[in-house]
Amino acid sequence: MLREMECGLTVIDRVGIQDFVLLDNYTSESAFLDNLRKRFHENLIYTYIGTLLVSVNPYKELGIYSKRQMDIYMGVNLFELPPHIFALADNVYRTMLSETNNHFILISGESGAGKTEACKKVLQFYAVSCPSTRVLDNVRDRLLLSNPVLEAFGNAKTLKNDNSSRFGKYMDIQFDHKGGAVGGHILSYLLEKSRVVHQNHGERNFHIFYQLVEGGDDELLRWLGLERNCQKYSYLVRGECAKVSSINDKTDWKTVQKAFTVIDFSEKDVEQLLAIIASVLHLGNLYFDKTIRGYATLNNSMEVHWLSKLLGIPTQTLQQGLTHRKIEAKSEEVLSPFTTDHAKYARDALAKAIYGRTFNWLVAKVNESLVNKDSTRKTVIGLIDIYGFEVFQVNSFEQFCINYCNEKLQQLFIQLTLKSEQEEYETEGIEWEPVPYFNNKIICDLVEAKYRGIISVLDEECLRPGEATDLTFLEKLEETLSGHPHFVTHKLADQKTRKTLDRGDFRLIHYAGEVTYSVQGFLDKNNDLLYRNIKEVMRQSQNHIIKHCFPANEPDSKRRPETVATQFKSSLAGLAEILMSKEPWYVRCIKPNDGKQPGRFDDVLVRHQVKYLGLMEHLRVRRAGFAYRRRYELFLQRYKPLCPDTWPNWKGPAAEGVAKLVKHLGYEKDEYKMGRTKIFIRYPRTLFATEDAFDV
Ligand code: ATP
Ligand code: MG
Repeated sequence: MLREMECGLTVIDRVGIQDFVLLDNYTSESAFLDNLRKRFHENLIYTYIGTLLVSVNPYKELGIYSKRQMDIYMGVNLFELPPHIFALADNVYRTMLSETNNHFILISGESGAGKTEACKKVLQFYAVSCPSTRVLDNVRDRLLLSNPVLEAFGNAKTLKNDNSSRFGKYMDIQFDHKGGAVGGHILSYLLEKSRVVHQNHGERNFHIFYQLVEGGDDELLRWLGLERNCQKYSYLVRGECAKVSSINDKTDWKTVQKAFTVIDFSEKDVEQLLAIIASVLHLGNLYFDKTIRGYATLNNSMEVHWLSKLLGIPTQTLQQGLTHRKIEAKSEEVLSPFTTDHAKYARDALAKAIYGRTFNWLVAKVNESLVNKDSTRKTVIGLIDIYGFEVFQVNSFEQFCINYCNEKLQQLFIQLTLKSEQEEYETEGIEWEPVPYFNNKIICDLVEAKYRGIISVLDEECLRPGEATDLTFLEKLEETLSGHPHFVTHKLADQKTRKTLDRGDFRLIHYAGEVTYSVQGFLDKNNDLLYRNIKEVMRQSQNHIIKHCFPANEPDSKRRPETVATQFKSSLAGLAEILMSKEPWYVRCIKPNDGKQPGRFDDVLVRHQVKYLGLMEHLRVRRAGFAYRRRYELFLQRYKPLCPDTWPNWKGPAAEGVAKLVKHLGYEKDEYKMGRTKIFIRYPRTLFATEDAFDV
C-alpha cells in the first residue's frame, strides 16, 4: 500500500494513477483501460473517478479486508490513502455524521462483477468501525448475519456467477447521532421464483435446498422425509450440477443455522421454515397418474403423505387441491379435474408461490429483528445490491425484468451525477458547461411507458385469457413499437439482422448491449396465477408460516391482481423515490473476464463495461470544468508547508490562506477558481506540480 502513497511519477508508471480524474489523457478510452489494467495486475483493484469508486473483481483473496486495513482507513480523507471500498464507506459515514443527512451507496455492474461482495465489505467495515456497546453489538451481529440467511434463500449458482443474487436488495443501516448502528431495514425486489421449478443447464436451484440436503443432520432429514441425496429431487437436478466446487453447502448450512439463532428465529420458526423447504422438494417429486378418461390422479403417494404431514393439511384436501380446480358454472361452484399436464403446471405454480411467499416472510422476519427500538432521530446509509445486467443464450421474462431494473438504476445514476455536478458548480458560483451523455431514458420509456411501453402491452394481453398467447403479445409489440430505435424483431429487422432472430424473439438495444428475449412464457410468468382453490387449501395449513403467507383476506381471483411486471415497475419507482431523497455515492463493479479467473484482464470485455457504465462520460463531467476540488480547510492543511505565509499556522479565513498559498505557488489565472467553500483546480498537472513541490 505504501508504494501507492508515494506521489512521484515513477511510481505512477508502475501502478497507474489512483484517480482517473488526474489522468492527463482523460478522453482516451485506451488510456483509461491501460490504467485499469496496470492496476489490476498489481492487485490494485480499486480506482477513483473523483468520489466514485471503480472496482475490478480480482477473483482471488487479496488480504486487503483485514481489521488492520479497516483501522488504517478509519477517519482518513478519501484521497489520502490508496482507493479502497473502506475509504468510501468511511467517508460516507463521516459525511453522514457531520452533515446529519441520509446517504446511499449504489453498487452496480453486471452479474459476477462483485456487487454483493462489495456490499458485504461495507457492512463489515461498519460492524468494526462503529461505536460498540452490548446493545449495539447485538444489532451489528444481526445486520451481518442477515446476509447468509438471505443469500441462502435468494442466491443461486448461475452460468455467470456461483453466488448470483436472484433478488434485488436495498438495505438501510440506521445510525444514532453518535454513529452507533442502531437498526436496519431491508426491502427485497422480485425474487426469480421460476428457478424453484426449473434451472438451465449448469445452474442450480436456490442454495438453501442443497444446504439442507447436504448439511441437515440425520434426525432432521428423517423428520422431513428427505434423503441425503440431491439427485433424488427433481427440482434440484434440472441443471445437472448439484455439486459446485466453489461452494461448500455443509459449511454454509452451519452458518445459516447460527444466523437463525442470532436473528431471533425461534426453534419453531426454523422447524416450520425447513418443513416448507422440504415440502417444495416433495412437491417436485409428485407423480400424477392418468385415469382412463385422461385426468390426473394422485395415488396416495409417499410425497402426498409427507406434504400432508409437513404442511399440516389433510391428505384428502391436498389430493383434491392438486388435481382439480374450482370453476363457477351457473352460480354454482364445481370441481373440474386436471389433465396430467395441467396438474404438473398447477403443482409448479404452487411450489413457486410457496417459495416466493416464504421468502417475503423471511425478509419481514429479518426486518423485525433489525427494528430500532429507540425512536430517537437517526440517519441512514442505504446499500443497494441488485441483480446485475445479464445476457444468456436464451433470455426470458426474468432477464427482461432484471435488465429493466438495471436500466432504471443507470437512469438514476445519470440524473444524479448530472444533477449533483451541476448543483455543485452552481452553489459554488462556478460557471458550468454541460457534457453530452447517452441518456437511456428512451429505453426505460420503451419498457415502462403508459399504453405504448412493453409492460403495458404485456398487461393488455394478459387481460385476454384464452385468446392471447405469447405470440399475439409479440405481434402487438410489433404493431406498437415498429420503428423504435431500440426495439427489433424478426419481422421488423433488416435482412442481415433477421438471420440472428427467431420468430418468437424480440431484441432490445439496452444501454449495456443487445439482448434477445424469447417471448415464450411471458404471459404466464407475468400473470403468475395460482388457482383459487389451491389457495384455499393452503389457508387450512397448520404451518404458521404458510398460514401467514396465504391470508384469509387475500383478494380472490375475481379481482384481477396486479401483474408481476407492473408490481415490479411500481416497486422500482418506489426505490427511485427513496434514493432521490438521499446523497448518492457510487461503486461501479467490473468483471475482468468471463471465466471467473484470477489475473486475467480481458480487454474487450472490460472496454465494453467501461463504455456502458458511463465511466468515460462520468470522467468527462468531472473534468469538464475542474479536475479536482477540495474544501479550503483541507487544501490548506495539506499544502500550508509550501508557503511561508501559511506555515506553520494560518490564523485567518481558510479561503484567504489558500489564495496566499496558490499565489505563492504561482498558479496561473485559468488554472483554478475559488468557489464559496472550495478551491477548484482545472488541470491535474497543477496538482502534480504542487505535490512535487514537497520534494524540492
Ligand atoms: P450478481 O449480479 O450475479 O449477484 P455480483 O455482482 O453480486 O453478481 P458477487 O457475487 O459479488 O457478484 O461476486 C462474484 C464472485 O466474485 C464472488 O463470489 C467472489 O468469488 C468473487 N469476488 C467478488 N468480489 C471480490 C473481491 N473483492 N475479492 C475477492 N473475490 C471477489
Ligand atoms: Mg450479487
